[in-house]
Amino acid sequence: MVDRASVNHLFTADALLPTGWARNVLLAWNSAGQLTAVTPDSVRPEGVPAVDGPVIPGLPNLHSHAFQRAFAGLTEFRSEQADSFWSWRTQMYRFARRVTPEQLEAIATWLYIEMLEAGYTAVCEFHYVHHDPDGQPYADDATLALCLLRAAQNAGIGLTLLPVLYQTAGFGGTPPAEGQRRFIRSTDNMLRLLERLKPLCDAQGARLGLAPHSLRAVPPDGLREALAGLSAIDATAPVHIHIAEQTAEVDACLAWSGQRPVQWLLNHAPVDERWCLVHATHLSAQEITRAAASGAVAGICPSTEANLGDGIFDMPAWQSAGGRWGLGSDSHATVNAAEELMLLEYSQRLHTRQRNVLATAQQHHTATAMTLAAVAGGAQSSGRPIAGLAVGQQADFVALDARHLALAGLGGPDGLSAHVFASHRSSALQAVWVAGRQRVSEGLHHLHGPAVQAFVAARSQLLNEATE
Ligand SMILES: [Zn+2]
Repeated sequence: MVDRASVNHLFTADALLPTGWARNVLLAWNSAGQLTAVTPDSVRPEGVPAVDGPVIPGLPNLHSHAFQRAFAGLTEFRSEQADSFWSWRTQMYRFARRVTPEQLEAIATWLYIEMLEAGYTAVCEFHYVHHDPDGQPYADDATLALCLLRAAQNAGIGLTLLPVLYQTAGFGGTPPAEGQRRFIRSTDNMLRLLERLKPLCDAQGARLGLAPHSLRAVPPDGLREALAGLSAIDATAPVHIHIAEQTAEVDACLAWSGQRPVQWLLNHAPVDERWCLVHATHLSAQEITRAAASGAVAGICPSTEANLGDGIFDMPAWQSAGGRWGLGSDSHATVNAAEELMLLEYSQRLHTRQRNVLATAQQHHTATAMTLAAVAGGAQSSGRPIAGLAVGQQADFVALDARHLALAGLGGPDGLSAHVFASHRSSALQAVWVAGRQRVSEGLHHLHGPAVQAFVAARSQLLNEATE
C-alpha cells in the first residue's frame, strides 16, 4: 500500500509513456487526480513510495453491456443446428427480460471491480435495458441508469454512460419484438433521460454520451433528431453505435438502402472524432479509407467477436489507413485487458499468417504498440482525459507484478510482452490507481469478497427463475 502521507507521488523503474518506455519515472498528481508531472530519469526522492513492476497506463474498456456478465459462459452449448449470433441473442433476450434493478447493480458492481483487477480503469457502458420486465418505465425512469452510476462509483472505475436509443427490430422500421420491449424509447423520451442524467454524471466525474444501438434499431429520423438533441446538451459528447458486426446485417442494410452499413452511416451522419464504431467488422476497402479518415474510433471486442462468430476486423488495412482503435469486453466472455490484446493479435496472425501484425514502425514491441493505441483510442471514445501517463491526463495506471513468474527479472517492454502473451491466464497485476486513488492492491479490490457474493446470488436468482 502507498503511504497516505505521500499519496500524490509514485516512483517506478519502468513506465510506459505515450512516447514509449522510460526509465526511473517519478509520477506526481494533484488532489483532483490529475497528473501534474511525469519525469523520466529521476532519482527517487526520499519518502516517495515505489513499485517494483513496470507501470502501464490503465486501459479504457470502450464497450460493455454490464448485465451480460451474469450469463457469460452459459450459452456454450448447441441450441440449433447451426448456432450463431442470432441464436445467442435469443438466449440473451431471455436473460435481459428478467433482470431487476437490484440484480443489475450487483452484477455491474462486481463486473467493474473485476475490470479494475484486470487492468481496465474506465468503462463505456452501452446501456440498453431501460424499463421494467413489462416494458413500462420505472417510477423513476432513470432507475437502471442510476444502478450503473452507483456501481461505477462504488467500484471506483471511470465511467462513460451511453444510454441506448432502440426503436425498431430491423431496417425499414420493423416494429420491435416482444423480447426488445425493455429497450424501447422515443427520441423525445431519450432526450429527457439525457437531461436528467447529465448533472448526475457531471457530479461523479462520469461522461454522458449517447448510443444509437445500430442502424437496425434506429431509423434515419430518430438518428438525426437524437444527435441534434444530444449536441444541444453537450456538443462534444461521445456517440457510439454497433455497426457491421454480422454479414447478415450488411446484407439487410444493402437490401434496405443499397448501401453497406458504414457506407450509409458516413453518407447520412456527421461521423467524426466523437464517434465509436463498435465492431465495424465487415468493411469494404472504401469504407475503411473513409471511416479511418473521419477520425472515428473502431471499437474492437476480440473475445466477444470470437465468441459470437462475428468475423475478423481487417487491422492491417485499418492501420495503414491511419485508423484509430480501442478495445471493449462487450458481452464479457473475457474480462481481462491483457487477454483481449493477445486475442486481437492472435486473430490477426491466424488470418494473415504473419507474426507481430500490430507492431508499428515506431513501436516494434507488439504488446507495447497495442497498449498505446488502445489507450489513445479508448480515451478518445470515452470523452474523458484518460490518455495515459502524461501531464493533464487523469492518474489512471497499473503496476505489473514483478514477482509474478511471467515477469520476474524482466524490464518494461519484455515484462509487458510476457504479461500479455505469456502470463498463462493468471493475473500479473499488482496494483491499480484510478484518478490517483489506489483501487487494487496485491491484485485485489477491497470490495472483492462481498461483491463476488452479491454477484453469485444475483446470477443464481436469475438462473432459478429461468428454470421455473
Ligand atoms: Zn455490444
